[in-house]
Amino acid sequence: MGVCNEGQMSVSVDFTLDSRFFQTTNLRLRVRRDYPMKSICEDLKSFLPLSYTVENYKVLVKFRGKVYGHKDHVTLADLNSANSEKMTALVVPKNKDKISITLSVHCCSDSSTCIQLPKNFTVDCLKTEILKAKSCCARSDCRIIINDTEVTMDDSFPYSKKSQIHIIFQSETHGSCTPSSWKIKKTGLTKEGLCMNPSCAAYKQVVYISKGLGTFDLLMESSSLKEEKCIMCETNLYNTQRFGFINCIYSYIAEDDNKDVLEEEKEAGLEYSQLSLMKVGTWTRFEVKVDKYCN
Ligand SMILES: [Zn+2]
Ligand SMILES: [Zn+2]
Repeated sequence: MGVCNEGQMSVSVDFTLDSRFFQTTNLRLRVRRDYPMKSICEDLKSFLPLSYTVENYKVLVKFRGKVYGHKDHVTLADLNSANSEKMTALVVPKNKDKISITLSVHCCSDSSTCIQLPKNFTVDCLKTEILKAKSCCARSDCRIIINDTEVTMDDSFPYSKKSQIHIIFQSETHGSCTPSSWKIKKTGLTKEGLCMNPSCAAYKQVVYISKGLGTFDLLMESSSLKEEKCIMCETNLYNTQRFGFINCIYSYIAEDDNKDVLEEEKEAGLEYSQLSLMKVGTWTRFEVKVDKYCN
């Protein structure tokens, strides 16, 4: 810092530091009166703990109700700063394009972590940051689940503040706070069924069976001849006439009793979109082709 011993050339400044970032809350420094505010901001950065000196943060100085940053050339002399004036050092994320997101990490223990990511972050980028933030062990294989949808590396990530994000490194360890595995939906076609086994954790709940990509005969899939088992208890599921799609393009051809043909192509994002065969007429044919979604 522009430290100087000559009384008139320098002044003492009493800084109040943001305790969320700095390890100390008060700091007294002697500063040359011709020292610009932008340099004071820059120098205060060196008082941040090492983990914050990354380019993600900037320090601003609040003085007499006004905030100064790295573009302010105005000096203490220009501001007629007297001796022992009080200033506050503020720490803010530097890049406005970055967002802080909170997520639940399930590994050696369950924990909540806050990480900084670019606004349009990818799943890949999310995973890299999680691995940087995780310190319990070297495990790196994880499942990423956003609002009960499992996302893969190729998926886009439409994050909203309401998004519940779970990162699961070990699934079997913890109970209550991990998402229920029978509710997790994956890319492609999902078939729904009801578990009616009273001793199953999914009793009387919808169990989602992932069918992935490909061509499917939904009439055959929903017929009682095609058995579908609960992923929790292995008993047969009931009411398997509902389907849904996640993160894919699907097109279907359907034909009813009157030989009317319905053809449609749709896109499904990470928001689960349902298709019920019960709602729509008596079909004699219902085929769906499910393809990878290209961002
Ligand atoms: Zn661990
Ligand atoms: Zn079950």
